[in-house]
Amino acid sequence: MKISVSALLSVGLLATTSSPALAVGQLPAGVRPLVYDITVNPDATSKTFTGSETVTVQVTKPTRTVTLNAADLTITSASFDGKPARVSLNAAKQELTLTLAARAKPGKHVIAFQWRGKINDTAAGLFAIDYANLDGKPARMLVTQFEAPDARRFAPMWDEPSFKARFRLSAVAPGDQTAFSNMPTTSITKRADGSQLYRFAETPLMSSYLLFLGMGDVERKTVLAGKTEIGVITRRGVVDQGDYALASAQKLLAYYNDYFGQPYPLPKLDMIAGPGSSQFFGAMENWGAIFYFEPELLFDPKRSTESSRNRIHTVVAHEIAHQWFGNLVTMAWWDDLWLNEGFASWMESKASNDLNPQWFVKAETVAKAREGAMGIDATAATHPVIRPVATVDQLGEAFDSITYQKGQAVIGMIESTLGADVFREGIRRYMAKYKYGNTQTDQLWAELALAAGKPVADIAHDFTLQGGVPLIEMNSAICSKGSTQVSLVQGRFGLDQASKAPQHWRVPLSYGFVGGPVASTIVQGPVANTINLPGCGTLILNRDKGSYVRIKYDESTHAAIVKDYAKLDLTDRLGTMGDDFALALSGDQSLDRYFDIIKAVDLNGSPLEWWSVSGNLGAMTSLFLHTDLEAPLRARTNALLAPIMARVGFQAQPGEAPLVTNLRETLVSRLGANGQADVVAQARMYVGALATDPNAIPPAIRQPILSTFANSATPSDWDVLFKLTREATNPVVRNSYVRLLGQARDETLGAKALELLKGSDFSSPQKAVLLSSIAGRHPDMAFDFAVANLDLVNGFLEASSRTGFVVGLGAGSNDPAMPGKITTFAEKNLPEASRGGVKRALTAIAVRKRAADRLRAGLATWLAAGA
Ligand SMILES: [Zn+2]
Repeated sequence: MKISVSALLSVGLLATTSSPALAVGQLPAGVRPLVYDITVNPDATSKTFTGSETVTVQVTKPTRTVTLNAADLTITSASFDGKPARVSLNAAKQELTLTLAARAKPGKHVIAFQWRGKINDTAAGLFAIDYANLDGKPARMLVTQFEAPDARRFAPMWDEPSFKARFRLSAVAPGDQTAFSNMPTTSITKRADGSQLYRFAETPLMSSYLLFLGMGDVERKTVLAGKTEIGVITRRGVVDQGDYALASAQKLLAYYNDYFGQPYPLPKLDMIAGPGSSQFFGAMENWGAIFYFEPELLFDPKRSTESSRNRIHTVVAHEIAHQWFGNLVTMAWWDDLWLNEGFASWMESKASNDLNPQWFVKAETVAKAREGAMGIDATAATHPVIRPVATVDQLGEAFDSITYQKGQAVIGMIESTLGADVFREGIRRYMAKYKYGNTQTDQLWAELALAAGKPVADIAHDFTLQGGVPLIEMNSAICSKGSTQVSLVQGRFGLDQASKAPQHWRVPLSYGFVGGPVASTIVQGPVANTINLPGCGTLILNRDKGSYVRIKYDESTHAAIVKDYAKLDLTDRLGTMGDDFALALSGDQSLDRYFDIIKAVDLNGSPLEWWSVSGNLGAMTSLFLHTDLEAPLRARTNALLAPIMARVGFQAQPGEAPLVTNLRETLVSRLGANGQADVVAQARMYVGALATDPNAIPPAIRQPILSTFANSATPSDWDVLFKLTREATNPVVRNSYVRLLGQARDETLGAKALELLKGSDFSSPQKAVLLSSIAGRHPDMAFDFAVANLDLVNGFLEASSRTGFVVGLGAGSNDPAMPGKITTFAEKNLPEASRGGVKRALTAIAVRKRAADRLRAGLATWLAAGA
């Protein structure tokens, strides 16, 4: 699964979603499913479906009862070996228990069920996506989303990752629609009522959360990658927008076939574009039938830009990596979810970097994913990468930046410690040994250790079994008689007091002088570590930023780095900026050091450096909203970025570097958010032109121009946006307008947007998008509205998001009253076990408050000093 991660990038922390407090429970092991034969018949109009299945099971211990999962299903018949069996449902545990007439003996048996189920409005189980077709007529696509754990809303199943089985799926689809699933269609039978019965080929052995079914008025286009047919499936009329994803998938499949040493095992790999949205995820790796929401898969030349291409490639790379890491070899239980997600996140970057060198993905990972992980990990709200998952709530919370980005960083660190070739050899061993099976993390470390000929688990355990970010502090670096002696100590990097408790890691650390060779060591805690190296010069620690650690230099080394900044590798420039900003936020060093570094960034430097500067200044601005520092900080940011904007220009130049195109979006967006006059004027001009030409805004700046217009909207501007929203038939365009309606800085317009949530202009997912968007601008208003209208809000949220969503709305507030309001809300509405999101929201607020207090004096001095 690819979660929605844009908000993870700021140090401001994301309040993640979580799911209802239902015990997952681990099913009894005495009965295992071998093959499911499932047939479903959806009624898209009434949003219900009927289903029937026969499951061939292996009984290993004599038993009178069989327990499996079911949720929101009405069982209409059940039998065991053809004899009726008594059914009892436990809604809280989402379990179904069959009581048999007599004890079942070990061996194969057949269980059969019939049931009725619901088609949901939001992404859980079988769900509906409503949209307008190109001719403007309403259309409804049906698709499934089963991770995690919602396959049980589709059919009674052993819905846990270790119960791998084969699936034979059949589905009834309307006569004018096409159905699609994990495997190719084997037959289509016309039925008397004009509908069609689709049968799909049997899947390989796999976990229930990877099963998929979809149907709708779609088109399919294919290419071949070796023997594998890769397809893209879209709503009618836009299939060509899948060309870029198809071409990317073709290269990626070849890349992964080689990397993993196991060929992709299914005959086809479809990528399905759904014209909707989710609060929770952007794409899902169903084996052979990857589902994406449209913006993650389709490239629309009229509206998409280089960053969309980059994003599509990343998401496709992530989901295809899962076809091996996750689908072929699957975690035994959800506490090892990071094995799936950390690895796929790491692989998406590696593959994108190797296949698209023009994007500098490796450096981008240092600037973005690394910072994303270290934000939450440096607070009291963190947790180990591997942690117990016992409830559906904890499972929902497990899809967070620790699982994804920290997991990615740890895998990257192990790879750079072992070397890329040795690491790949270990992965190939692991794939070969465990294909079609389930594993725990230590089985991966064991194969890597065998490939490397040395232990891996000791370092790996330090970074996966405890939370937190190590901080290596350079006490001194003394050059004497042609060699340098460096003294290092280790501690825990923390953004709040609670996260600064003593803690230690074995940290692989590379080091070397600028322009010189690289050596490495393992830094142990808690004693001082000494390293000696020949020569003298400007010493850089954590060269290439391969290790998961913050670095604090002594005064003179830092000064030397500022002086030699231009000579550093891009990864080290970005990593040093990130460390210096974070160390200022945590109070470990003066904000001056950060300002010294950004002063050294060249006007013609990498777009990624300016992306980082822009992002950090924006994060700082969010700490000082509605204070005396807000206006001067915005003005200073504009003055600093204006020359870069002038260099980049508003119009994309033919043949410009892709990162420059991305930087233009960043700059227009930041300057627009700061109300910079030029950008605001451009935005008004372009949006005015939309009245006569819907494609008036060049794709390269479309999104930030619209955002700028929305941010600074007057009441009549907002009416223009509302009109554009209502008239938009393209589902992606419509969704993006819905988001814009919540972005106005004007409070009365925020209130007006909130009123829309009570009406019927928008679908449930769109209402969730709108409310999140309003919270980004007016967290207090959004939170108060949700509390006052809780039933209304819960009604349009995904079940998996309900417990974390409302408290998350308040997480961006700087109002001293907000923590009290969140606590009161939680005590009244959320069970004790479902308050992970509460902890995160409260931590985020506290961390921002502390950071603002620490930065205020240094920032005021910098602003007073002027450019
Ligand atoms: Zn994933």
